[in-house]
Amino acid sequence: MDDTGRVVAATAGLRRDQSLGRLRPPGPVSEIRTVDDLPFGEGGSYRIIALPTSTPAGPVTVYVAASLSPVDDAVDVLQGALATGAPLLLAIVAFTTWTVTGRTLRPVDAIRAEVADISERSLDRRVSVPATDDEISRLAGTMNMMLDRLDAAAERQRRFVADASHELQTPLAAARTDLEVALAHPDRTDWNDTAADLLAANGRMERLVRDLLFLARADAGAPRPAARPVDLDDIVLAEAGRIRGGGRLRVDTGAVSAAAVDGRRDDLTRAVRNLFDNAERYASSLISVELSSDDHRVTLVVQDDGPGIPPADRQRVFERFARLDDDRSHRTGGTGLGLAIATEIVEAHGGSMIADESSGGARFVVRLPAR
Ligand code: ADP
Repeated sequence: MDDTGRVVAATAGLRRDQSLGRLRPPGPVSEIRTVDDLPFGEGGSYRIIALPTSTPAGPVTVYVAASLSPVDDAVDVLQGALATGAPLLLAIVAFTTWTVTGRTLRPVDAIRAEVADISERSLDRRVSVPATDDEISRLAGTMNMMLDRLDAAAERQRRFVADASHELQTPLAAARTDLEVALAHPDRTDWNDTAADLLAANGRMERLVRDLLFLARADAGAPRPAARPVDLDDIVLAEAGRIRGGGRLRVDTGAVSAAAVDGRRDDLTRAVRNLFDNAERYASSLISVELSSDDHRVTLVVQDDGPGIPPADRQRVFERFARLDDDRSHRTGGTGLGLAIATEIVEAHGGSMIADESSGGARFVVRLPAR
């Protein structure tokens, strides 16, 4: 169609008065649109494109229309197929997903059932680990590692309760025997001695219960007072003075310098006192103390000239109720919890404690973060 609206050329069979030009697009550029109301042809939807172009005779617009009925037919067929096929497909997909997921998760359910079956009394049991190297076998492995830790914690707890009961039983039985003998022979009994023995047994039980309570609270994560600035040198010098006051030992504090930490004074005093008590028990004549501080760290060394701790036992002495020589320790009156408590306190303050190499006597080194 030229600019004047005259049909210049048309497909054979298309009458000139049936001009597609009546569907002229509004703009000058090519345009495609779909129309339903074409006044000729087979009826139905047509896709029409109008393409402006130029010819030697001047500008013209070429109109082309194509029936959409083959497309519509295809869509109809597809819709019919989908109406029956889609639900079937969905059912197949759902069934497959259900089956595959069920099979994949079966080992997880087996692990769950095994874990549910493991009670406090059967913590030595483990879940079976599938031979595959995937998330499920890793889950089973992690479960078993958790069971290892639970088992070890429960075993520690059992041993602790057994040891604590045994420790309490000993002074109780001794006191009972003293009383039975005294009552059986009241005329031959020195009641002052008996009372002194009972008092000693009582004191021992009291110390033990106090230490047990401290550890129980620490284990339960009981809230502690907030940390405050503490001068560790004050505590160390006070403890040294206390031991000098006993008159039996010399305490060398020449290497004690100022050292400030953040912490709980009562707890730190208790840790230092436990170290000094041990040193006092085992030293033959001298305890040497060093306290120093740099920007990051405070170091306390307590060394005595006693029998020392054999290298093989330098880890074990920090365990609860660990005693290197039962008789020796019972005679010295310790509870076997002193170092365990000191370590607990030092670690709660972010520090560490070791029994160090020493040429003679025991040497304990405590490190704490400096204030
Ligand atoms: P106790 O209350 O029996 O002293 P500790 O936990 O304080 O318990 O110490 C554990 C064990 O470590 C002691 O029984 C003792 O055998 C050993 N030990 C601790 N300190 C010293 C020391 N200064 N010299 C020699 N042995 C020590």
